[in-house]
Amino acid sequence: MQFRDLGLPATITRALEEAGYTEPTSVQAEAVPAALAGRDLLVSAQTGSGKTAAFLLPALTKLSERSTMRGNGPRVLVLTPTRELAQQVEKNAQVYGKDLRWMRTACLVGGSSFGFQIRALSRPIDLVVATPGRLMDHMRSGRIDFSRLEMLVLDEADRMLDMGFIDDIEAIVKATPETRQTVLFSATLDGIVGKMAERMTREPQRIEIARTETSGGTIEEHLLYADDLNHKHRLLDHILKESGFDQCVIFSATKAYTEELADKLSDQGYSAACLHGDMPQSWRNRTLNDLRRGRIKILVATDVAARGIDVPTITHVVNFDLPKQAEDYVHRIGRTGRAGRDGTAITLAESKEFHKVRRIEQYLKRQIVEGVIEGMEPTRRPPKGPRRTGGKPGGYGNNRNASGNGYGRDRREGGYGRGEGYQKRGPRRDGPSSSPRSSSHRAD
Ligand code: ADP
Ligand code: MG
Repeated sequence: MQFRDLGLPATITRALEEAGYTEPTSVQAEAVPAALAGRDLLVSAQTGSGKTAAFLLPALTKLSERSTMRGNGPRVLVLTPTRELAQQVEKNAQVYGKDLRWMRTACLVGGSSFGFQIRALSRPIDLVVATPGRLMDHMRSGRIDFSRLEMLVLDEADRMLDMGFIDDIEAIVKATPETRQTVLFSATLDGIVGKMAERMTREPQRIEIARTETSGGTIEEHLLYADDLNHKHRLLDHILKESGFDQCVIFSATKAYTEELADKLSDQGYSAACLHGDMPQSWRNRTLNDLRRGRIKILVATDVAARGIDVPTITHVVNFDLPKQAEDYVHRIGRTGRAGRDGTAITLAESKEFHKVRRIEQYLKRQIVEGVIEGMEPTRRPPKGPRRTGGKPGGYGNNRNASGNGYGRDRREGGYGRGEGYQKRGPRRDGPSSSPRSSSHRAD
């Protein structure tokens, strides 16, 4: 399957080629033709599977023909939960639509200048990417006109609902023309997302791309128990020294601690920076840009700031603190293993937090391979439950046999758990799998 088989105009397929995309991913192969045919869509596919292009390509195809409607309002509106994600989507639109020379885009997010956004809206605009809150501000002051709107995209719809945007979303949808095409992307289409989707779409086609090991790179996951905070720091030091990481995202539970940890790592000589929701937007942007350019090697982040970040060179994710919500685990580890590369995710947990780990595992419907680092074993073991933690150490944690790479790029070599003094605990007989390989159970 080639991009040109999907019915995209040559101006767009050329830009994709230049961006190094050789063939569509599964979600693109399914969603693009359906969207081009004008259908409403409800799509779920795992993180890193190329969903952005799956909605941008049909959107840009619309924009490749000029509108006959009068007015300045956007023809395509994309809603995303976070500022960073909105900016990333706009950037992708500029890459895929680089030959649509007249196309004008705007990113309406909090934390950046109103004046600039207002100016952007004062001339005909083609594509607006926005977070619901800031878009509502513009709507309230009557600065946005949806009469020309042809397509509405909700990216990470489940996340937007989690973040409490449901009323805003409903109000935004109401303000748009009934004739619009609506496409919704979500990790799950069940429950409240499904209900909302029903209300805002017409005879939608559901596209659910099964989680496969071949649609992205493989993420090797490990779990290390620690006695206390001090122990966690020692484990982190070891991981950073031994893992051979290229770029790493460390998740911490609180804003204050991301700062503390980033400072500590900087003092140790790493190029580290923090990212959280209280930082001024310009600073958040600079940090992400520095990460993309490789100037920052370690990003210490909270959950909200890291959502949707797509930096393919991130080789490692470390959960210094456990996520509060089980599903955040999936989003966190999805920051690595992007664009068909492999990644490693290491989770640190205090022994007394075993029940939180269980909850994550229940959500995942699988176990996370537990390991120990020689000489740094926890003194207290989590109680034996459904998870069997005893047994002889089972050699080095390198039994992975990474499978496919959806994009045909080279896989990174080297990495944590490849025989660098890292031991996997003995096989668990009662788990769904005793293989240390675990991969790609991600959703975004
Ligand atoms: P998702 O939204 O599903 O998490 P993204 O849209 O952010 O995933 O895409 C993940 C990465 O894959 C990005 O770096 C993107 O540039 C790359 N990508 C997307 N589609 C393709 C493709 N067809 N070929 C190669 N790379 C792709
Ligand atoms: Mg996405």
